[in-house]
Amino acid sequence: MTKQEYMNQAEQHLFHVYNRFPVVFDHGEGVYLYDTDGKAYLDFASGIGVMALGYADPEYTEALTDQAKRLLHTSNLYYTPQVAQAAEALAKVSGLDKVFFTNSGAEAIEGAIKTAKKFASLRDGHAGHEVIAMQQSFHGRTVGALSVTGTDHYREPFYPLMGGVKFANFNDLDSVKAQMTNNVCAVILETVQGEGGIYPADPAFLKGVRDLCDEYGALLILDEIQCGMGRTGSMYAFQQYGVKPDILTTAKALGLGVPVGAFVVTDKVAQASLVPGDHGTTYGGNPLVCAAVAKSCELIEKRGLPEHVQTMTPYLEQTLDYFVEKYDFATTHRGMGFMQGLVLTIPVGPVVAKALEEGLIVLSAGKDVLRLLPPLVMEKEGIDEMKEKLTRVLDSFC
Ligand SMILES: *Cc1c(COP(=O)(O)O)cnc(C)c1O
Repeated sequence: MTKQEYMNQAEQHLFHVYNRFPVVFDHGEGVYLYDTDGKAYLDFASGIGVMALGYADPEYTEALTDQAKRLLHTSNLYYTPQVAQAAEALAKVSGLDKVFFTNSGAEAIEGAIKTAKKFASLRDGHAGHEVIAMQQSFHGRTVGALSVTGTDHYREPFYPLMGGVKFANFNDLDSVKAQMTNNVCAVILETVQGEGGIYPADPAFLKGVRDLCDEYGALLILDEIQCGMGRTGSMYAFQQYGVKPDILTTAKALGLGVPVGAFVVTDKVAQASLVPGDHGTTYGGNPLVCAAVAKSCELIEKRGLPEHVQTMTPYLEQTLDYFVEKYDFATTHRGMGFMQGLVLTIPVGPVVAKALEEGLIVLSAGKDVLRLLPPLVMEKEGIDEMKEKLTRVLDSFC
């Protein structure tokens, strides 16, 4: 079939909830994707931060195919070696203690919220606690996750959402203080805001929120679904801040392409919150995804990818400096590690579309931020190729 025939077939039967780009991908290798016509695309998106090792990594693929032949699924009524190993690996790389595996990022958020609510209700002997979330945050599309997502156009058609959510401004400690009471069970925020436009938390803000949570007995939930798993130059971004959450949410690169997320809690939280009967999932943490999680934790560390990101970041940032100097419509850039945003004064959508035509995959964040989430294995040559391609793209908007 031709590309157009695949696109027509898809549009005939898929619920039109995405405006897809006119490309049909066939396979990937390393930092390149290939479409059904054999055209190569340099990947600076990683399938939205998922494919941290790039495509078709032999060691990862072997682990996954071995597991597919052995055992795919049993349910959470039983133990498997894979769930034991994956939980241990994730506890180790995160520095937290107890893991619950989910099928997505949004489900990890749901679990984190339920855990915080249960923790507070056991402590206080009643329910009815509130959550503080951030403006411009993004935590997912399920109703609970949407309730703590601070972007109106994602939320408004679906009102009423979960009650008891108050919004503060990211990187504005006073605005969090103004909302804090003894009835707040949790503050939830992304260590680096992703969809909202690539805003890293200020160290003083994150420390301040941690202290405020401790003062009021609220739990700190850090959502590292996008920024975790080595992307910012450490396994989790919070590890560079000297601040530890009570609950961590993680997904995207956690399984390197298989659908898996998790929320991870401290012993203190695990001992006084959810108990058997409070929460569950049929697929969550099945042997297939857990084989992937154990392997992704192993490979990201063994190959020194957080360190590689640290080494390459100045070079990537110099390239972004070059764009800011060269183009009037590129005003600044910001980010952490391999999570970078180039701020434009022109609409970013057409830039992303034009880049695809040039064989370069990039993302947007909001209306005016060009978002780069390259695979963590990206080398200098790939950054040079991105610079050359994106220069051609941006030249066409002058
Ligand atoms: C992608 C994302 C989510 C939602 O994850 P899904 O797997 O799409 O449900 C939540 N939080 C952040 C920060 C994300 O980037």
